[in-house]
Amino acid sequence: MSEFLELKNIAKTYVNNEKPAVHGLAFSMNEGEIISFVGASGSGKSTLLKLVGGLIAQDKGTITFKGKALTKPEDKLIAGEEGIKMLFQDLKLMPNHSVAENIKYPLLKYNSAYQIERTNELLALCGLMEYKDRFPKQLSGGQQQRLALAKTLAEDPELLLMDEPFSNLDPIVKKRLVKEVVQIVKSEGLSLILVTHDTEDALMISDRIGFIDQGKLLQLGTPEEIYNHPQKVIVAEFFGNINLFTSQELKRILGSKHRRELSKGQVYGIRTEDFSVLPIKSGVKLKPKVVHNYYVGSASILEVIIEGKRIEIRVPANTKPSDLKEIYINPSLIMELAL
Ligand code: ADP
Repeated sequence: MSEFLELKNIAKTYVNNEKPAVHGLAFSMNEGEIISFVGASGSGKSTLLKLVGGLIAQDKGTITFKGKALTKPEDKLIAGEEGIKMLFQDLKLMPNHSVAENIKYPLLKYNSAYQIERTNELLALCGLMEYKDRFPKQLSGGQQQRLALAKTLAEDPELLLMDEPFSNLDPIVKKRLVKEVVQIVKSEGLSLILVTHDTEDALMISDRIGFIDQGKLLQLGTPEEIYNHPQKVIVAEFFGNINLFTSQELKRILGSKHRRELSKGQVYGIRTEDFSVLPIKSGVKLKPKVVHNYYVGSASILEVIIEGKRIEIRVPANTKPSDLKEIYINPSLIMELAL
């Protein structure tokens, strides 16, 4: 069985650039899957998306969609692949046409009965029915985004590509919209590749997350794998607050009673929220000295010193730092990380 989407050994260097924007890139995607790519600015995420969208050509490697290699943009009249559609940040709405007309535009090749039926379906699906006669500028930012999505869905894609969608919306609207979009994508049976720097969005909606660093895909895995089993320090730090330890530091903190093998030269990580203020089964008891207390609403972040090592722990907001004599760590939560 051929893969839905498959990238093999992809490299791309832009003209006049020394360093490749992406290199050695390989992964495959199943139909119906939602994959997010996350990484720092300039790491190559948008380049990856443009390559998959057929908007730019790779220098090396192959991209196949449903068993067929993508056609190079220069060999096509209109760049882009049938079946793969990109939702652009600038939305590409037609300002002098109503909401309904915007959605209907990509459907004009079909008979009029289908045009009306599908337009109504997409208006309902994207929550725009009551705004169907308005012009785009008479919509809120979130509604404009939903219109752009409806218009893209009218093009009948199988794989949808989104680059930092909704980043210009306020955070509450954005969070709601991201969840709505995922429900729409799932209900239409589509596949989605999303580029984002918002790790919470990625963890919340993705089947798998890929972390890109300097044009290289460092890790691709389920949200649980990426968050709880990051292979590298950079991935662990990107997805949450973490304390790093050398093997000597950890040995000192865990004490002689703990028998876990620790290798010299290995970096270990413990997430700030993995310390418990209550005793836990098979937990190791630690004696912290609190040096700072930062209240962040839902929790308190305490800076503590344990066996000479300064670390941060996240504890319930009602914890009184002055009463905190002991904290506990389950050694199985300690991560082994490569630099
Ligand atoms: P991201 O989406 O992760 O921010 P990009 O894929 O946009 O990263 O960029 C990756 C690298 O390629 C960066 O170093 C960027 O400066 C460079 N780059 C991106 N687009 C172009 C372009 N059109 N011409 C030259 N260099 C580019």
